[in-house]
Amino acid sequence: MFKLLKNGNVYAPEFIGKKDILLVNRTIAYIADKIKDISTFGDVEVIDVSGCSVVPGFIDQHVHIIGGGGEGGFSTRTPEIMLSDLTSAGITTVVGTLGTDGVTRHLESLLAKARGLEEEGISSWIYTGAYQIPSPTFTGSVRSDIMLIDKVVGCKAAMSDHRSSQPLLSDYAKLAAETRTGGMLSGKAGVLHLHMGDGNRKLDMIFSIIAETELPITQFTPTHLNKTKEFLAEGIRFAKAGGTIDITTSSPAVAPQRVQAPDAIRICLQEAVPLERITLSSDGNGSMPAFNENRELVGLMAASPASLYESLRSIVQQEIMPLADALRFITVNPATKLKLPNKGRITTGYDADIVILDKDLNIQHVYAKGRCMVENRQVKVKGVFEK
Ligand SMILES: [Zn+2]
Repeated sequence: MFKLLKNGNVYAPEFIGKKDILLVNRTIAYIADKIKDISTFGDVEVIDVSGCSVVPGFIDQHVHIIGGGGEGGFSTRTPEIMLSDLTSAGITTVVGTLGTDGVTRHLESLLAKARGLEEEGISSWIYTGAYQIPSPTFTGSVRSDIMLIDKVVGCKAAMSDHRSSQPLLSDYAKLAAETRTGGMLSGKAGVLHLHMGDGNRKLDMIFSIIAETELPITQFTPTHLNKTKEFLAEGIRFAKAGGTIDITTSSPAVAPQRVQAPDAIRICLQEAVPLERITLSSDGNGSMPAFNENRELVGLMAASPASLYESLRSIVQQEIMPLADALRFITVNPATKLKLPNKGRITTGYDADIVILDKDLNIQHVYAKGRCMVENRQVKVKGVFEK
C-alpha cells in the first residue's frame, strides 16, 4: 500500500531537487526533502533511488494498440501491442488509434483493448474515427462518442495522404466542429488528431479552415510532422501560429526518410518554437509502408513504442536540451493538450506513474498507478497472454 522512493533527483518534469516521494496505493501522496517517521504506517516498501532521476511516466498519444497497417494485403496487418511493449519503454499512459484500415479494425476492439491495458495496470484513452471520413463511430456521431464514452478524447482522421478518403475542406471543418463541441460539452479535450500524409498540400487545409471558420488552431493536433524537412517547416509555421505539433519518433530503421525526432527538435529550437507546443509520439505498432513515386508499396515494417524513450535519451545525450525540457514532450505537454486528468506530472495528488532512470538514462524501474511494472530493468508485470 505504501511505497517510499528515497533520495531521487526528481523532475516534475521541471527539476525540483533531491526528494523523497511517498506513494499511497495509486497516488503520489507526499513529496519532501526527507520523509521520516514512517514506522507507524505499517508495511512500507522503501526503494532507494539515490543517484537516479525520478521522472513522470511517459505518455504516448499515438499508438496502434490493436495493430494497424495492411497496405500490402491482409498478411501485412500489424499485430496488437502487449503490455510490456509499453511499460518496458516507460510508457504508463497510452492513447490508442485506428489507422488506414477502418474495415477489419473496429472501434469496439480498440476500446476493448484499451480497457484490457487498463486492467493490466496502465492508463489508456482512445480516439474515435479512423483514416476515412465519414468517420466510423460507436454511437452514430463523433460528438456523442466524445460525450458518452469515457475513454474517447478526440477523433482521428487522415489528411494530405493518398490513403485518406480525400475529404473536402468542408468535411474536415464539420468534423473539427463535431469534436470541438463534443469536447466542450463533456469537459474533454475533443481534439481532431490528424494523421498527415506526404501530400504536397501539407497543412494547407488546416490553415484554410482556421482562416475561413471560427475554429481555433488549438482544435487540431496534426501528427507525423517530421515527414520531411519541408513538412516540418510547415509544422513550425503551424506551431508559431499557436498550434501544437506532434513529432513521430519511429527509428531510422523503420522510417529512414524522416527527419529523426532529435533533429526535428533541434530545428524547432533553432526556430524558437515554444516548448509547450511540441509533443512526441511513437506511432507504435503502426505500419511504416514505403511507397515509390507511383504510390506503389515497396516495403513495410512496424514501428516500436520504444522509440519514444530512445528519442528522449538521444535528445538529452546529444545535448540538444536538458532532461527537464525534453521530458515535457512526453509528459506534461500531451497531458495538458489531451486534458488527461492527474497525468504528466510528479506532484501531490497525481497518479503515481513514475519512471526511474539511472545516470546513463537507462530505465531502471517503472511504476504505473503505484504498481511496480518494471524492476531493475526486468519486466515484473506481464500482460495476460505474455510469456
Ligand atoms: Zn499511426
